[in-house]
Amino acid sequence: ASRLSSRLMAVQPSPTIAMTRLAAEMRRAGKEIIGLSQGEPDFDTPEHIQRAANDAIAAGKTRYTDVDGTPELKAAIIRKFRRENGLDYEPAQISVGTGGKQVIYNALLATLDEGDEVIVPAPYWVSYPDMVRLAGGTPVIAPCPEEDGFLLTPRTLRAAITPRTKWLILNSPSNPTGAGYSAEALAALAEVLLAHPHILVLTDDMYEHIRYDGWQFATIAAVEPRLAERVLTVNGVSKAFSMTGWRIGYAGGPADIVKAMATLQSQSTSNPSSVSQAAALAALDGPMDFLAARNRTFRERRDLCLAAFDAIEGLSCRKPEGAFYLFPSCAGMIGRCRPDGRVIESDGDFVMWLLEEAGVAAVPGSAFGLAPYFRISFATATEQLERACARIEAACKKLS
Ligand code: PLP
Repeated sequence: ASRLSSRLMAVQPSPTIAMTRLAAEMRRAGKEIIGLSQGEPDFDTPEHIQRAANDAIAAGKTRYTDVDGTPELKAAIIRKFRRENGLDYEPAQISVGTGGKQVIYNALLATLDEGDEVIVPAPYWVSYPDMVRLAGGTPVIAPCPEEDGFLLTPRTLRAAITPRTKWLILNSPSNPTGAGYSAEALAALAEVLLAHPHILVLTDDMYEHIRYDGWQFATIAAVEPRLAERVLTVNGVSKAFSMTGWRIGYAGGPADIVKAMATLQSQSTSNPSSVSQAAALAALDGPMDFLAARNRTFRERRDLCLAAFDAIEGLSCRKPEGAFYLFPSCAGMIGRCRPDGRVIESDGDFVMWLLEEAGVAAVPGSAFGLAPYFRISFATATEQLERACARIEAACKKLS
């Protein structure tokens, strides 16, 4: 018998992390690998946020805090939701955790019973289905093909709903596709949800601030206030403020769920780092002007990669509204032959070819629930991206 629990046996280690590890192994073996598999801005945490953390340490803010966030940070989060999203929350409706990841996991673990279903639109962030499984629930994958702009349509949503549906998970702009929902698209989904009062909505707005070409971000609780009472709006400082290592995420939503999440956190990790909470407060209350310049850089990198992929026969890529990923189709590469005679039969084979031949680490679309695609992160130095694109093109040309 296995020493591991059946729950754990049902989940996979994150494929993004697996790819990053494989790339690191090849690097150790002396190969030069350009890593495009990890979703992490290459910018530093802005200085005013670093200073706030140093000040917090010096001021002795190094002790346990309230389990799900200091009152000061919760107040800053309430201001953020009001100012940027038009959402009104009380402190009892705010939860702070160790990254958006913990907040989402808390919400699922606090609410799911065996057999409860969670609708996960695909392509999805890799962690959603496995978090649902770990919490004892059943992920119901709702396919969102490229023809639908990688977005959930009202019709697909309706088809996925059953009496056991507990949650719908939305993620806009999306990891891995960068596709974003307009307020109109969210209103159309809300219309369906209003007819099914038993469904909760978890919206993961982690990439809210990383957006391009004047695209307007919208979030479902603000678009349809009649739903607000069953929406958990998740956000965090990791991506917008280049604070991935600080591990602060937060959510606003129904007080009963927020309270249950705090109970769970009190029996698992307790409060997120006190110093990181002080830094997150400075991030949320501080200047946002640095974002425009960073987004300009991200957009240049996006466009550079889009142009490069566009020029490669056999690849095609939809232009994303936000986040820092591209999710190109490699359908045109399937069935082609490597010089060693091996056939590219899947996006997994294609990504392995890119790793071996081009020295570029990407993640296969199948890991995100849609094949044949692959994901690259363009949150990497521009020169690195230029070299990666040139090497991808050369590797693709070797396939016949
Ligand atoms: N949600 C999405 C869609 C993400 O891509 C990520 C990070 O990769 C997270 C949540 C988690 O963010 P955090 O680092 O705050 O846990």
